[in-house]
Amino acid sequence: KLYNLVQDLKGNIRVYCRVRPFLPGQPTTLSTVEHIEEGTITIRLPPNYGKEGRKPFMFNKVFGPSATQEEVFSDMQPLVRSVLDGYNVCIFAYGQTGSGKTFTMTGPKELTEESLGVNYRALADLFFLSNQRKDTTSYEISVQMLEIYNEQHSSLVPVSSTADVIQLMDMGHMNRAVSSTAMNDRSSRSHSCVTVHVQGRDLTSGTILHGSMHLVDLAGSERVDKSEVTGDRLKEAQHINKSLSALGDVISSLSQKTSHVPYRNSKLTQLLQDSLGGSAKTLMFVHISPEAETLGETISTLKFAERVG
Ligand code: ADP
Ligand code: MG
Repeated sequence: KLYNLVQDLKGNIRVYCRVRPFLPGQPTTLSTVEHIEEGTITIRLPPNYGKEGRKPFMFNKVFGPSATQEEVFSDMQPLVRSVLDGYNVCIFAYGQTGSGKTFTMTGPKELTEESLGVNYRALADLFFLSNQRKDTTSYEISVQMLEIYNEQHSSLVPVSSTADVIQLMDMGHMNRAVSSTAMNDRSSRSHSCVTVHVQGRDLTSGTILHGSMHLVDLAGSERVDKSEVTGDRLKEAQHINKSLSALGDVISSLSQKTSHVPYRNSKLTQLLQDSLGGSAKTLMFVHISPEAETLGETISTLKFAERVG
């Protein structure tokens, strides 16, 4: 409760950054990340990049390459828990393909208890806490998975028990369960969304509250060279571009409290309209890779984050 008060004072939109470590077996080039301190990340720019040799970007929080899944989740746990008090929460993972979005939300391909991502931890925590409160409140929790691809959405199975959820996440998380490259490719070009709806009934007063949480693993934010792709691939790239910039526009107009919020510009923002704005809480989690080769994308990701924050 105190956390929610503090959050309300700080505003409902938070922007976090996470830096992926160099991967095992990868040649360790010099990291583009020079320094991380509390909410500031300083990027090292090569001499030919412009006037300054380094550039700082500010966030509500920055997680460095050694941050664990547990640390990341425990920071957002109060936000997740506020769903049981009737809040609407959206958590987005943004970044270029390979920067660690799916790692944060779901985990690596080979899951262990320590490597479980936000989706599993959040659901388990909601089931745990709702059970702890069972003497005062009766909760109904339902979960749905959804994919948005080329501005079309498809609804996957709704579920209602912990066992169902675990099974669903096992089969639903294409990135993990299906190893084929084709599927991996597709998952990086679609938005995948786990939606949790909560209804709580106060056993004494009979009062009903509703809360919801959307956990969104966004399509890769990398710019596609229009001279190199055609046909379906170009159409996909344009859809992704459109929806990510529509999302950026919505969040930035919410954080600037402008009167018109452009929800209608993409399927993603239309679907999430009721969960973005008002008393809803939004966490935009931007991911960056440390490699020098991806500096251009890293800078554009950090600029996107600056715009929404
Ligand atoms: P994205 O979903 O953004 O395309 P992934 O989550 O698939 O990226 O990450 C790319 C690779 O990096 C995967 O092999 C993943 O397991 C690994 N990885 C990402 N983030 C981390 C991290 N914080 N710690 C260790 N490995 C990571
Ligand atoms: Mg992914």
